[in-house]
Parts: sequence; C-alpha cells; structure tokens
Amino acid sequence: MLALALLLAGPLTLEVPIYLGAELHEETLMNALRETARIFEPGDIQLRFDVSPDQSTTRPLVTVIVQPRPARFKVHGCSRDRHDHRLGHTQLRSRRITLWSEQVARAVDGNWDRKELPKVDHRVYARALGRVLAHELGHLLLRLNGHRDRGLMRSAFSHRSLTARGRRAFRFAEEDLQAIRETLLQAVAKNKSASFRPSDEREAPKR
Ligand SMILES: [Zn+2]
Repeated sequence: MLALALLLAGPLTLEVPIYLGAELHEETLMNALRETARIFEPGDIQLRFDVSPDQSTTRPLVTVIVQPRPARFKVHGCSRDRHDHRLGHTQLRSRRITLWSEQVARAVDGNWDRKELPKVDHRVYARALGRVLAHELGHLLLRLNGHRDRGLMRSAFSHRSLTARGRRAFRFAEEDLQAIRETLLQAVAKNKSASFRPSDEREAPKR
C-alpha cells in the first residue's frame, strides 16, 4: 500500500500499441500522437506509443487500430460496452480503439458529401487525428459509454474547434484526469497489463 501511495503523486506512463491499417504520412502520424500526448500531460500521464508493436502475449490495456474507413458506414448510438462515432470507435470490453483516418480528413475538410478524399493541411489533419484519439482513449480509460457536457469528452466537436490551433476545447476535466490515473494505478496494482508500468520503476508496487 505504501508503494501505491507513492505512485499517486508521480508521473504515470501508458503504453499504446498502434496498428496502422491506413496510409498516413510518418510526420502526420507523429504530429497526431504528439497532440494526443499533450492532452494527457496536465494529468502527469505520459503516453508511450509503439507504432510497430510485436504481438505480445500479454493483453495490453489499450490497442489502437487505424483504418481508412469503417467496413460499413453506420452510426450507432451509445450503448453498453460500445461507443461509436463517425471518426473513431471504442470497444470497452476488448479495449480496442479504431480510428478512421479518411473520416477525420472529411471532418477537417468539412464536406461529408464529397466522394473523393479531400486534400487537407497535414498539420491541421494531424491535430484533428490526435484529438479524436485522445477522446477515444478517454472513453476507454474512463470506461465511459456516454459523454460529458463539455471539454474533450463532449459528444460532438464543431469543425472549428476540431481544427483550431488552440487546445482549450480539448481539455479533460480535472476529475476525469484523476479517474484515469486511478484506472492506471489499478492496472499496476493488479498487474493486469505488462504493457503498462509506472515511469519510475523504483516506485512500482511489489508483487
Ligand atoms: Zn465519444
């Protein structure tokens, strides 16, 4: 218990394996992941992305898959253990997040009726991708099927806020950051996921 108490104040690291099933420019991907990481920084939560994960036998706390688009375009409502958007999707039970890169490009373009893939500013595109990923990670780590009234976990983003340089509209609420830290600490305590460990290994709880 003492070790756990020490962890409460320190930085936490979440390992995030990413499987790329869509074409994304390397720089766009890196910028997107940097945007996601920044959204978690106020909670002293570090994200460590692995874009070429080995198929480890341990079950990670979260797995991210990037696909161009859903196999079948359908928007589901929020329901138990399942969360869907046009831009991404989170399955709480299997701890799996899917991001649809072409859909995010369409959201950045702002024209959903256009048939061909829009040409978008790669920096703005990366920013939007990173924000959508942070939102989906929020669902998973908060085990949240629904949404909050405001901030990162609200149900819809305007085109303007999704693409704006400023990150004001994409903050986690303080209590959500705390809840995420608790989720991560519980994972450490149960040693459920080898892919997650505290940043400072000296403070890891004894098995
Ligand atoms: Zn959502």
